[in-house]
Amino acid sequence: MITLENVSKTYGSGPQAVHALKPTDLHVAQGEIYGVIGLSGAGKSTLIRCVNLLERPTTGRVVVDGQELTSLGRQALNHARHRIGMIFQHFNLLSSRTVFDNVALPLELMGVAKREIRERVQPLLDLTGLSDKHDKYPAELSGGQKQRVAIARALASRPKVLLCDEATSALDPQTTQSILDLLKDINRKLGLTILLITHEMEVVKSICHKVGLISAGKLVEEADVGDFFTSP
Ligand code: ADP
Ligand code: ADP
Repeated sequence: MITLENVSKTYGSGPQAVHALKPTDLHVAQGEIYGVIGLSGAGKSTLIRCVNLLERPTTGRVVVDGQELTSLGRQALNHARHRIGMIFQHFNLLSSRTVFDNVALPLELMGVAKREIRERVQPLLDLTGLSDKHDKYPAELSGGQKQRVAIARALASRPKVLLCDEATSALDPQTTQSILDLLKDINRKLGLTILLITHEMEVVKSICHKVGLISAGKLVEEADVGDFFTSP
């Protein structure tokens, strides 16, 4: 579902150049939950941002759901991005919009009719446990609830892939577990492929099928999670 071939990212040039991601191959199968783990500065964020081209890779090819994104023009890329949802550590909600209107936003931008928006947003609020939060503003919600809104919004365009950039790092352990349970649920119910980055082993242990270890911009190890955590 996600293939990176020889993808690298260098910020800046000359003596100032930072090789944040060295040439990397990565494959995430359909329906898989793949976790990339590594220390701060290892290149996790750069890697995940290369998948939807929030960062333009310096080299290599990115293929998502059979479509090569790295060869697309701007308009085609915007369209292809509907197939890729993303959530962030700090939720990135619009504070002036209610829960409903935050979730509806991507559909408004896609030009979906008002009535269809209503029909599509409500089930997403149900799925994410926000049915009674409809008219609340982000400031009225707990961190876990804000991340649920962000998840519902990411699902609005019916993506095939969900990218999670340290999605639970700002949450306490209990809330983290409830968000991980929701992601697991979404993976199972919707068959969504999930690529996440984290610096927390517990996140990988809790929901990932496969794990890649990134260090100094290189994917240095990859394993099924069962094997990765086999104790001696
Ligand atoms: P992680 O997500 O694992 O913490 P990042 O991908 O954010 O790592 O960063 C990898 C390396 O790239 C770090 O050395 C970081 O300082 C550098 N870096 C990240 N973004 C930029 C940028 N926009 N310009 C220059 N260097 C950057
Ligand atoms: P959680 O159960 O996710 O840890 P909290 O304990 O932070 O949530 O919040 C409990 C309840 O209080 C939630 O239902 C939330 O809607 C409400 N709440 C949290 N923060 C605020 C706030 N700033 N204003 C109004 N209601 C809030």
